[in-house]
Amino acid sequence: MPEGHTIHRLALDHRERFEGVAIRATSPQGRFAAGAALIDGQVMDTAEAHGKHLFLGFGPDRWVHVHLGLFGKLGFGTAPPPPPADTVRLRLVGAGHHADLRGPTACALLTDAEKQAIHDRLGPDPLRPQDDGERAWRRIARSRTTIAALLLDQKVIAGVGNVYRAEVLFRHGIDPYLPGRALGRDQWDAVWADLVALMREGVRNNRIDTVRPEHTPEAMGRPPRVDDHGGEVYVYRRTGAPCHLCGSEIRTADLAARNLFWCPRCQPPAARL
Ligand SMILES: [Zn+2]
Repeated sequence: MPEGHTIHRLALDHRERFEGVAIRATSPQGRFAAGAALIDGQVMDTAEAHGKHLFLGFGPDRWVHVHLGLFGKLGFGTAPPPPPADTVRLRLVGAGHHADLRGPTACALLTDAEKQAIHDRLGPDPLRPQDDGERAWRRIARSRTTIAALLLDQKVIAGVGNVYRAEVLFRHGIDPYLPGRALGRDQWDAVWADLVALMREGVRNNRIDTVRPEHTPEAMGRPPRVDDHGGEVYVYRRTGAPCHLCGSEIRTADLAARNLFWCPRCQPPAARL
């Protein structure tokens, strides 16, 4: 499942290629044929993201809503494009570029009101300039649920996935099992500000890096991480490896149906006091 920075990056990629451009839209697979016919020839006004939801704007009251889910893929190329694979749900072509969407969980036309209903059920997104952490804090501060589970709940905060949740908790020395209501306001403000900074960097670099300058491979004289996710991290998928700060073995456990990673020494249960 891509994290929010990937979806914001896709919104930016669409704006750079297609904003203000009349688009040829087709559904080679056929499952979005009626929707594609309605936007075919229309100008893409904008593209935006909220959490893991992507919205492509085509004139008044018309949005294409995309959620990639676990298996969806969006790829870009030049135009004229090669003949499409019959798995392409939506192909957009314009201004020398094309975009192919395959296997999304959602690809549907929405009105402004329907789009707003999606925003309303999502928590604030660290990557949306108009959002702040206040609404998330109000839910966290009264919750008995662990902070690690709350960070993955898209109704509480939108766009944080498994990598950012593990890494931001490590960076602030927070026990992942701490109940939301035991978190301090100052801790939450620091976590939110850090997510804004880390995720913006994720959009820029199109990968997740969370280690501070003093903990890079170069600074520590250690080999760089080898992982298909790329990027340098403190705890994510580092089970059994030594913590970059204290040398303790990184631990893992299942939490909210996803693997959680943390350092038992840097993120001690004592933090609950
Ligand atoms: Zn540690």
